[in-house]
Amino acid sequence: MALHKSMLEEFGLGTVWVRRGAVSESPDASAAVSSDRKAALEVHRSASPMPVEAAHAPAARKADPVDTLTALDAALSAAQASEGNARQAPSAKIDSSRIDTAEPPVFDDLPWLDDVAPQALATSETIDDTAADIATLDWDTLAARVAVCERCRLCERRTNSVFGVGDREADWMLIGEAPGENEDKLGEPFVGQAGKLLDSMLHAVALSREDNVFIANVIKCRPPGNRNPELDEVARCEPYLKRQVELVKPKLIVALGRFAAQSLLKTEASIATLRGRVHDYQGVPVIVTYHPAYLLRSLPDKAKAWADLCLAQATYRKSLQAADGQ
Ligand code: URA
Repeated sequence: MALHKSMLEEFGLGTVWVRRGAVSESPDASAAVSSDRKAALEVHRSASPMPVEAAHAPAARKADPVDTLTALDAALSAAQASEGNARQAPSAKIDSSRIDTAEPPVFDDLPWLDDVAPQALATSETIDDTAADIATLDWDTLAARVAVCERCRLCERRTNSVFGVGDREADWMLIGEAPGENEDKLGEPFVGQAGKLLDSMLHAVALSREDNVFIANVIKCRPPGNRNPELDEVARCEPYLKRQVELVKPKLIVALGRFAAQSLLKTEASIATLRGRVHDYQGVPVIVTYHPAYLLRSLPDKAKAWADLCLAQATYRKSLQAADGQ
């Protein structure tokens, strides 16, 4: 079966697949997708971590780039179409003249695409000495600490903290910004439309949160009203992510969106500047790409996101080769 067909079935998007540019007529489409998503979450929650060898699946199950680009394209269109009834995007039509030239627009309704660069983040060590404790925790204790964390004011209004999800021994680690409303309700990162798109993108390169990636956020609790996280909140939360990276020991990190990239890399550089290069976080190579929520609204940039994933794959293979050579 072609990869894009299997993606359709796997993500329950079959009923809402539409031609690119067309909007689904079916009022049931969004409901069908979200109930499938819920079911997928249930399955995912009961899944056990995969064996270590499976984490190398990307190299073994290499996807056809043409097929996967089509699949990514279809996933973007379908995700947008399924969202179309609730929130009309400006246009689902791709303006190919903008590809590779357009600067990402600013979306005021997506506060997690933080417009404000995190300037000179204070290290948490200067704020709270329990960071030293966090640096010693094992997985389960770390998860338990995050669940009851009161290191910043975000604990006051959260429903659930969002620790992260996936294979704790994954080679790939994906890092987003902060939980939104759905994530706060369910305690899992990327469970809305952006999450569906992220899953489709991962699938296109033979990765999934169920098997061989670990997904976390810079911030573990939802900023009220999806406002931008404050600098001190980032600093307070930082030891958790640091420890997660130490425990996962990923061979590659993908930073999703400007906020995650700027926070991880301690820079104010734009995403346009940061993309297309290999950065470093605690000795792990980092690739920067667009936030999936941004891609939902900027279809022309999907080609750039695909290029980022290709760079991520190439970087991953290099880091495997380097490890083999040692
Ligand atoms: N956006 C993020 O950056 N992370 C999530 O978990 C959800 C939305």
